[in-house]
Amino acid sequence: MNNKNRREKQTLLAMINIYCRDKHEAGQKICFQCNELLQYACKRIDECQLGDKKTTCARCAIHCFKPEYREKVRAVMRYSGPRMLYNHPVLTFYHLIDSRFKTPKT
Ligand code: SF4
Ligand SMILES: [Zn+2]
Repeated sequence: MNNKNRREKQTLLAMINIYCRDKHEAGQKICFQCNELLQYACKRIDECQLGDKKTTCARCAIHCFKPEYREKVRAVMRYSGPRMLYNHPVLTFYHLIDSRFKTPKT
């Protein structure tokens, strides 16, 4: 796995942690529903058809997620995105760098 994909998965986990902690009050671990979302998104990232040309999923024009998961990820990002800079400044910095590029034309 390359560094970009690893960072994207770390960022996703951090965002889901914030979301689940505040919205689902699940305690130390994320709840079943959030874990299912995390596992699904990580699998999509691992199997991304764009390979080395992958941007971040939030910037991707293809967006291969099933609609239900896409909506869930959007809700997580809407809530946790603004809170990331305070909670995980370094991860947020690298995620912004990784987000610079849009999906290349295939
Ligand atoms: S949403 Fe786009 S970048 Fe993310 S895994 Fe799917 S194809 Fe790859
Ligand atoms: Zn949850």
